[in-house]
Amino acid sequence: MALVNTHFLNLQANYLFADIAKKVNAFRVTHPKVDVISLGIGDVTQPLCPAVIDAMHRAVDEMATVEGFHGYGPEQGYDFLREAIVKNDFLPRGIHLSKEEIFINDGAKSDTGNFQEILHWDNFIGVTDPIYPVYIDSNVMIGRCGTYEDGRWSNVVYMPCTAENGFTPEVPKDKHIDVIYLCYPNNPTGTVVSKQELRKWVNYAIKHDSLIFYDAAYQAYIQDPDIPHSIYEIRGARKCAVEFRSYSKTAGFTGIRCGYTVVPKDLTVANFEGERISVHQLWLRRQCTKFNGASYISQRAAEAIYTPQGKEQVAKTIDYYMQNARRMLLTLRSLGYECYGGENAPYVWMRTPKNTSSWQFFEQLLYGAGVVCTPGVGFGPSGEGYVRFTAFATHENTDKALQRIEQWSK
Ligand SMILES: *Cc1c(COP(=O)(O)O)cnc(C)c1O
Repeated sequence: MALVNTHFLNLQANYLFADIAKKVNAFRVTHPKVDVISLGIGDVTQPLCPAVIDAMHRAVDEMATVEGFHGYGPEQGYDFLREAIVKNDFLPRGIHLSKEEIFINDGAKSDTGNFQEILHWDNFIGVTDPIYPVYIDSNVMIGRCGTYEDGRWSNVVYMPCTAENGFTPEVPKDKHIDVIYLCYPNNPTGTVVSKQELRKWVNYAIKHDSLIFYDAAYQAYIQDPDIPHSIYEIRGARKCAVEFRSYSKTAGFTGIRCGYTVVPKDLTVANFEGERISVHQLWLRRQCTKFNGASYISQRAAEAIYTPQGKEQVAKTIDYYMQNARRMLLTLRSLGYECYGGENAPYVWMRTPKNTSSWQFFEQLLYGAGVVCTPGVGFGPSGEGYVRFTAFATHENTDKALQRIEQWSK
């Protein structure tokens, strides 16, 4: 008899984007003349830049010849990309990594979900709240989160991030967390962490022998020179942190699929005898068994981002989205809304008016202005009373949506 992994049955169906789609469709049926504008989903809209397109064409042509054909590549990724990453993403920030510490993947989502499987099932995890749902759900699948009551898992420590604490999660004083998930710049709140605050987490992890999973998928959007792009800018992080990076939001790779994970060789976890086990070796073993590498074409595409032309073109697209974010902040604040994020991230996190829940505001905005946002409560209990707007729409749609919100608010 084939028995199910019952932990999967504990997963809470994440209805967030399905519920949004359902409500938007209902609105469309009753209001066929309104063209709905979505500032809801977290996908990009601008095409790949020319440097990336050229590199992909070249890679395809190579694949069409006997000499240039590439079959299975190294599971950890091609050296040309790993070297470009070390040289361009880390060295300029004073971080020295070896190329062996870079694991190329098919996007950050898989590894943020997969990495927990090398850890014992009864580690305690801690997450900032609201949060990217993959972190918790992948832990539920292995039976690590306990039972679900009132929107929370019993064995998960939730660290609220709200306007009241400046979206700065407090380092636990009494509770012990073994595995900490941090995401900066943050999805969904669009807020960032200072070096000083991040240092507190690294110090906590070293003191408590904890592991930090640091998701830096949005680091390319940081504008403020004092904000860290990588957790390895903090001394000691090599001993306690894994970092996830993605080209999805950096360079519009959501449909290409390429990213990477940094696993320093100094990073170890304990076994029951108290011996130290290399996380790098475990992850290498895991990847060689379960992963066969990102495609050669995707990796050549990613490499092109690091050429002078690629860097300039990618920066332009990021600037395009950040212009949207600035317009959103300006208009929404002028209408009296309390807004956060949007300065170093492509998300604006807005407090809903008094006594209006996330979902109530979502419906009011849809029916009043024909604009779609994402209800904050869909990202966790502390997201209640907020909504998320994304800066990934076109200028035209962003402006049109803001004009409608302006008219509706007056
Ligand atoms: C979009 C996103 C990612 C990246 O996902 P990919 O699989 O690389 O496309 C990772 N983390 C967060 C928080 C994200 O929003």
